[in-house]
Amino acid sequence: MAEQLIDIGANLAHNSFDDDRDEVMRRAAAAGVGPIIVTGSSDSSNQRAAELAEAKPGILYSTAGVHPHHASDYSDASDALIRDLASKDVVVAVGECGLDYFRNFSPRDAQLEAFRRQLQIAADTGLPVFLHQRDAHDDFVEVLEPALPKLSRAVAHCFTGEGESLREYLALGLYIGITGWICDERRGQHLYDIVSIIPDDRLLIETDAPYLLPRTITPKPKTRRNEPAYLMEVAKTVAEARGQSIEHVAAITTANAQQFFGLEAA
Ligand SMILES: [Zn+2]
Repeated sequence: MAEQLIDIGANLAHNSFDDDRDEVMRRAAAAGVGPIIVTGSSDSSNQRAAELAEAKPGILYSTAGVHPHHASDYSDASDALIRDLASKDVVVAVGECGLDYFRNFSPRDAQLEAFRRQLQIAADTGLPVFLHQRDAHDDFVEVLEPALPKLSRAVAHCFTGEGESLREYLALGLYIGITGWICDERRGQHLYDIVSIIPDDRLLIETDAPYLLPRTITPKPKTRRNEPAYLMEVAKTVAEARGQSIEHVAAITTANAQQFFGLEAA
């Protein structure tokens, strides 16, 4: 197939890829997926993601940030590490950062503090922000909105919310990242129904691998681990839901990702 897709969020630093990361990358390339933006979400994964990206120039890029789950660990050293990594060419965004009140693995005040500090890094460096939000919409908007004039670009990654929050994010100027959540007929139907609201120039796609294996893959893979090679499944479902061709969805999401992260056009 001729389409090229860019996976804007794959947790390739995750230890579930330690045994066969090269294989996973080969399958991604064979499936037309690349470049891949490797998500950083903690001090250790930020370091690891940047190392992976530096070893595969032009194929892997990375982000540097602290996920709200790890917000209690956010220290001055975390802040300094993100700033340090942000100066590397392969590090193309700050994040993932944001708020997650679904699990509350870190207390809310720690999440709010870590989120504010990372938005400041994005403002200081000019890098775009890779945002995570779950069950925290109101606080999320309250912190994000005043910071937006100082930010270059921002994406609500793995958007799974309702139409109302989608419209609000779009009005704020956010890009929207869609994962295989949309391929889940049990809990993703609402997303399928509203994904056409997103204008062509704000749509991005991602696997969030190793999480969120698309349920539409046939035959079902032997393991539940998701990987970038399955991104076409997300593109297909998004295309179907938007009434667009796969070629069109591939072209716009690839162009958007290149522009968002400042990547060289292939
Ligand atoms: Zn996330």
